[in-house]
This record gives sequence, C-alpha cells and structure tokens, in this order.
Amino acid sequence: MKIIDFKKYSSIHIGSKHKVKIINEIGDYSKYTIIGKCHNTIISNNPPSLAMLGDEFDYILQKNNKLIVGAATSSGKLLVYCKKHNIAHFELLAKLPGNMGGLVKMNAGLKQYEIFNHLHSIKTNNGEFLKKDIDHTYRHTSIDGIIYEVTFDIHEGYDKQMQNEFVKMRDNQPNLPSAGSCFKNPKEHSAGYLIENVGLKGHTIGGMAFSSLHANFLVNMGNGTYDEAMKLINLAKEKVKEKFSIDLEIEIVIL
Ligand SMILES: Cc1cc2nc3c(=O)[nH]c(=O)nc-3n(C[C@H](O)[C@H](O)[C@H](O)COP(=O)(O)OP(=O)(O)OC[C@H]3O[C@@H](n4cnc5c(N)ncnc54)[C@H](O)[C@@H]3O)c2cc1C
Repeated sequence: MKIIDFKKYSSIHIGSKHKVKIINEIGDYSKYTIIGKCHNTIISNNPPSLAMLGDEFDYILQKNNKLIVGAATSSGKLLVYCKKHNIAHFELLAKLPGNMGGLVKMNAGLKQYEIFNHLHSIKTNNGEFLKKDIDHTYRHTSIDGIIYEVTFDIHEGYDKQMQNEFVKMRDNQPNLPSAGSCFKNPKEHSAGYLIENVGLKGHTIGGMAFSSLHANFLVNMGNGTYDEAMKLINLAKEKVKEKFSIDLEIEIVIL
C-alpha cells in the first residue's frame, strides 16, 4: 500500500490522501478500482478502494514487428521511444498525458486519431483480447478488468510535422489544472459550443470554472474542490438539457 495525496497526484488537483494498493504481479484485484495517472479522473471525497500498477508494468519491447508496452508506461515515454526508433502513428501522444492502461481504457485521442487505430491486442486479468474482439468507439471501450499489457502493430516513419500539428491543435487548451475534456462531444454539437451557448464559458463556482479559453475544460483556479466541480458539472448538464434537449455525457471519470 502507498499513501497518495490526490490533490498533488491528479492533474485537476482535487482530492485528499488515500491508501492505494500497488500491483506488482498479475492476480485477482477485483475489490479494487484501478487508476493510472489520474489525468482523466476526479477523486471524490469518498472513493472506492484504489489500486495502481507498479514499475514491473513499465516497459517497452519490440518483437515480431509488434510493439509490446506495459500498461504502467507513460504516454511521454512511449512517444520518446517511437521518435527514437522511427515508429509511426504515436505522434498523437504529444501532450496527451496518461499511462497506457488509462489511454487504452478511454480510447484516448484527438479528432479521428485514436489510440485504438493501431492497437493489435491487450492482456488483462481476464485473458488476451484482439482489437476486433473489443467493442470500442469515441472515448469508450468495453474493457472490463485490469489492462496489464498493450500490443501495437509497428509501422515505420515517425512524423515530426504530424507531432507539431497535434501540439498546435491544443492551442486553445488552458494551462490551468484540468482533467482534459469534461464532457464527450454529442453528435449534434461540440460540448464546448453547448456550454458556451448556455452562458457557462468562464463560469466560476468557488475555485472551479469552465475555462474562459475552452468551455469544455473544467479547470481548478487554485483551491477548487470536488463539491464545486460537481456543482458545475450538474449545472452544465441541466442548462444544456433545458435549452437543447441534449443529455451531456461526462468524459471525466468520477471515483
Ligand atoms: C491537459 C490535458 C489534456 C488532455 N487531452 C486529451 C485528449 O486530447 N484526448 C483524450 O482522449 N484525453 C485527453 N486527456 C485526458 C487523459 O489524458 C486521457 O484520458 C488519458 O487516457 C488518461 O490516462 P490516465 O493514466 O491518467 O488514466 P486515469 O485518469 O488514471 O484513468 C482513466 C480511466 O482508465 C481506467 N484505467 C486506468 N488504468 C487502467 C488499467 N491499467 N486497466 C484498466 N483500466 C484502467 C481507470 O479506471 C479510469 O476509468 C487530457 C488530460 C489533460 C489533463
């Protein structure tokens, strides 16, 4: 067990100190909820029992034209590796923070570029699964249980210009602590457009706000709390439902 201060650990800087089980070998951890780097997660005042993968699952290997990556490996480490070994299709990891477990579980990405695009298979506590057997759509997968390892197909040719384009696409993202996009984009409009349209862009409750740079980023202005974050989330849902009859679906994971 390790004590983690989630106010420091999570990217949105919310939460207090909790015990977290460190997993060093594959086993039965069904009573725990797995976390990665908490770059897409808000830890509530009363979270479930938490676990995270230890350093044993932080590795990158190449075998038979496949890239085999431990689920505790960070996106930054994989990006550097792919650049060094001239491997294509990982440029989207530039400024896409998280560990491979969280990135694959969330099918993280930007526009049409998603981590599943070049995924081959995953290893979980329930066995190994090929991509074709995993239900996955925009920011959603059917993955149940703990991801320990992720395998990708290797294609040659790291594209530095592509990396620059991904970084540029983030120009409108705020630098304040956040957990990435707050809501998934509904089919009809982007979540940012909807939040702005109901007058909540820049709206503040206590220490939390919908960013004035990008309305779909829930940001911590300093000492924001879980309760303030939830008030803003619920307010946006209510107002968007009232004006557009659209149910906003949260992208951030609340534990
Ligand atoms: C500034 C900023 C920008 C961002 N931009 C983007 C973006 O452009 N696109 C995007 O998609 N996301 C974005 N995000 C969100 C975040 O980067 C991704 O969701 C990332 O995948 C989170 O990884 P994590 O390790 O922090 O996961 P966590 O937040 O720790 O966990 C996320 C979910 O994954 C599950 N999980 C974690 N590890 C495992 C595992 N080993 N096995 C099974 N399940 C697991 C957790 O239970 C939880 O449900 C952004 C976040 C920030 C702070």
